[in-house]
Amino acid sequence: MADGVILQMAAERGGQQQAAPIVGIDLGTTNSLVAVMRGGKTEVLADPHSGPLVPSVISYSPAGWVVGLAAKNQRVMNATNTVYSVKRFMGRGLEDLREELRYLPFAVAEEPGNVVRIKLGERSYTPPELSAMVLRELKRRAERLLGLNVARAVITVPAYFNDAQRQATKDAGRLAGLEVMRIVNEPTAAALAYGLHERKEGTIAVYDLGGGTFDISILKLKDGIFEVLATNGDTHLGGDDIDQELTKYLLDEIRTICHADLRHDPERLQQIRILAEAAKCELSSRDVAHIHYELPEQRIRYDIELTRRDFEHRIRHIVERTLGPCRQALADAGLTPAAIDEVVLVGGSTRIPMVRRLVQDLFQRVPHTELNPEEVVALGAAVQASILEGGVSDMLLLDVTPLSLGMETFGGAMEKLIQRNTTIPTSVTEMFTTFVDGQTSVDIHILQGERELAGDNRSLGRFSLKGIGAMPAGMPRVAVTFTIDANGILSVRAKDQISGKEQGIEIKPSYGLTEEEVERMLLESIEFAEEDVTARLLVSVRNEAETVLRATEKALVEGAELIEAEERAAIEGAAAALRQALEASQPALIRQRTQELNTATYHLAALLMDRAVQTALKDKSIDSI
Ligand code: AMP
Repeated sequence: MADGVILQMAAERGGQQQAAPIVGIDLGTTNSLVAVMRGGKTEVLADPHSGPLVPSVISYSPAGWVVGLAAKNQRVMNATNTVYSVKRFMGRGLEDLREELRYLPFAVAEEPGNVVRIKLGERSYTPPELSAMVLRELKRRAERLLGLNVARAVITVPAYFNDAQRQATKDAGRLAGLEVMRIVNEPTAAALAYGLHERKEGTIAVYDLGGGTFDISILKLKDGIFEVLATNGDTHLGGDDIDQELTKYLLDEIRTICHADLRHDPERLQQIRILAEAAKCELSSRDVAHIHYELPEQRIRYDIELTRRDFEHRIRHIVERTLGPCRQALADAGLTPAAIDEVVLVGGSTRIPMVRRLVQDLFQRVPHTELNPEEVVALGAAVQASILEGGVSDMLLLDVTPLSLGMETFGGAMEKLIQRNTTIPTSVTEMFTTFVDGQTSVDIHILQGERELAGDNRSLGRFSLKGIGAMPAGMPRVAVTFTIDANGILSVRAKDQISGKEQGIEIKPSYGLTEEEVERMLLESIEFAEEDVTARLLVSVRNEAETVLRATEKALVEGAELIEAEERAAIEGAAAALRQALEASQPALIRQRTQELNTATYHLAALLMDRAVQTALKDKSIDSI
């Protein structure tokens, strides 16, 4: 017995420290995935029932938390307590989010320290806390499928994520009980999945069109080092827009042909949207999609054949909106399309043949499409994980500044010192002077953005350099230096060249969490872990109970003549008791009553089975005659 205990602990320790691989995680806006390298091959860990994707959705109810598919199914029923697109909030302050909040219906507040919080139930949560719930779900999935404790991960982020957003992603990993071994850019991961790191040099375009976002990244590979030359995109462009366009078309058609206006009925609208998305997906592999919609109570019967040609004609303007950012990224990288050696497609919407054609035409290259475009980033994260594990050729990933950095000058103008898409680390110095005679101090107001007026850009901080000798305007010389280090942290220094006086500040990741906050959240997450377990348990016993109830109803109809009134009453009584337990949301009671209903229907089930066997035998004997 004692031997057994010792062995088990050793296995457990081995599982945690050696045997469990580092997993690769694609933490997406809409869906997330986890992948590993096993036996020299990468694979996405798919749930036997729900498949490879875990919807990045979290839903709260007084009974507890649910994450993934179960939460996505709550989006309509429990809309106020269901959050999605949390990635859009990561590492950002309220000021940055005004635009996003026009699209997303969440109650958001800002705390001292610029940390955004999203209200759910009684409490509000930071984006890393919510993302941690999705990561925990992926961790659990990996543990279940691998049979090992998973404690380390590589997580991917968009190439344009700034340091605060990367830090927020790391915090989320830590809150989920994962040691984040590396944050990798999504386009770099896609290139790794295709093994492009094995060619020594090259320029790679990664075109990523998902459900709600579009990103284009130009990577340079030299001596095994990936450098992000440029990024561009549109944070609100993707398959959802195509679905919307097709939905609009179908609604118009139904209005004209069937004289029914369904535009203001949310439930019907949702049904049409689902039809539109299904037709879109079908047209990726067929030339014609059949669309059928019937609403007998309103005497609506709508049947059309939508050809791929017609579909492409209707969505062309949406797909073409991706080309401008591609050209801009090429221009920022100082390249022509012909300079691109490889094109990689990422995101479910790149399955659309027209998307592939337009990308091919632009870059004059046949894009890589061999891997599943929705899995390619997670697979690449698993490649990076295995590289880290093997400790072999470790790749250095260089980043670029996503936005220009500069300062406010006379008249409220923005003077850019570091242009967007500059590779970091970098340092730039420029000379400034005074505007008024006898001026003894200058204000340095640091800005981030592309707009010409200071007020239209994001303010990162300010300080004054005092003690400049009083001189006529234009005489003093103040050197201002902007430096960004390898971690993306900006420091700004101003030095009066005559007096030697110097002043400066370091701009920390603006919307990060403090170490104490992360600690507090870690403690709280232990609390959630219990709630999580209860919620999952409730969901599974509920599903089982509902299945048994449905089967009972069916059996009572089909086997009506097989049982006496007394037996029927006993079954109906047990079913009513189970329905009552479902309302009380108590897992143990639901399980007990499900068992009781199972017992009550045992005899009827046996009778039905007998009858089915008899019928089958009879049919068989007829066949054989
Ligand atoms: P992602 O964000 O990468 O998971 O991509 C999701 C988007 O891909 C959604 O808009 C889907 O409707 C779309 N999508 C998935 N499969 C297909 C397909 N076969 N053809 C066209 N679009 C697809």
